[in-house]
Amino acid sequence: MELLSLNRQELRKYMESLGYEPFRADQILKWVYKKFTTDFSSMSDVPKKLREELPKLLSVHCLEPLGRVPAPDAVKYMFRTRDGHLVETVLIKERDHLTLCVSSQVGCAVGCTFCATAVDGLRRNLEVHEILDQFLQVQRDTSERIRNVVFMGMGEPLANYENVKRASEIMVSPWGLDLSKRRITISTSGLIRQLEKMASDRVMKELNLAVSLNAPSQELRERIMPIAKTNPLKELMRVLVNFPLSRYRRITLEYVLIKDLNDGPEHARELVRLIGKYRKRFKVNLIPYNPDPVLPYERPTLDRVYEFQKVLWKANLSALVRFSKGADVFGACGQLRNRSVVKFKPHGQESEVGR
Ligand code: SF4
Repeated sequence: MELLSLNRQELRKYMESLGYEPFRADQILKWVYKKFTTDFSSMSDVPKKLREELPKLLSVHCLEPLGRVPAPDAVKYMFRTRDGHLVETVLIKERDHLTLCVSSQVGCAVGCTFCATAVDGLRRNLEVHEILDQFLQVQRDTSERIRNVVFMGMGEPLANYENVKRASEIMVSPWGLDLSKRRITISTSGLIRQLEKMASDRVMKELNLAVSLNAPSQELRERIMPIAKTNPLKELMRVLVNFPLSRYRRITLEYVLIKDLNDGPEHARELVRLIGKYRKRFKVNLIPYNPDPVLPYERPTLDRVYEFQKVLWKANLSALVRFSKGADVFGACGQLRNRSVVKFKPHGQESEVGR
């Protein structure tokens, strides 16, 4: 059985079923999620007999670490699932904290035309324990505590709704990773039905929400993101405008700027017309496109990026230019797609290896 897929109540029941006191579950969870110790034999306050039994009953790590690619501002990790799929996770070094960009699926079915992950299509959803193990393995390889998680890696998190929800619940639980709900971000391409579900979910509605908009009109959005055909922009805006937000919280609209496609001042003006009325609900992240060798798109000049931003600013919209960290290791937005890596052993020593 996979330990990381169990919540506290389930593990307590399981301990009881084995003839142990339920509080043994709390001891184990403390080792795993607070001390990041995943070797049962080191769990010194757990009875010796149970410590010896546990490896035969439960497994903690389900992902095999294959390697990592370090860069000045990010580290891309690569893992293999038990059934042989490759999963990528990126640790981003911000000025004063670390953010972990986790994958929720192997590949992605959404098919955004600018995205390298989409090239191979969807293989499968990641399970709860496969999502959480990305965190544990990277945390064990990192001396500083990771306090921010973004579901912006491979896959559309809302297309794997139940597993992402359960993993998020464990991330925010006091007995789990105990992260703040405000420090977990769900980044979606804008799946309307799932957004409606999220809006009425006790835990999910409290998480940060980022929506990949990428175009100010239905016609252009359909060209860049085919998913817009079944999730029309007008309907998406209706859901976002009604999404429950507590005070001071805003929805982030991600806008990847692609040269000569969606980066003109006319597009910026159209974006103002689309969201200007609701400016207090949204902030816009303008992300200059990260060119990828397998895709035909280019990054606009910086002048053009700042011209776009100025149009939004003039309309009093909050708009930041964000350069995706880790672009030089292909770990930036829309670039996760299993490339060469440097092998890593947890806690250190690297050696060169190809994929
Ligand atoms: S940008 Fe996100 S939603 Fe779009 S294809 Fe890539 S991984 Fe999927």
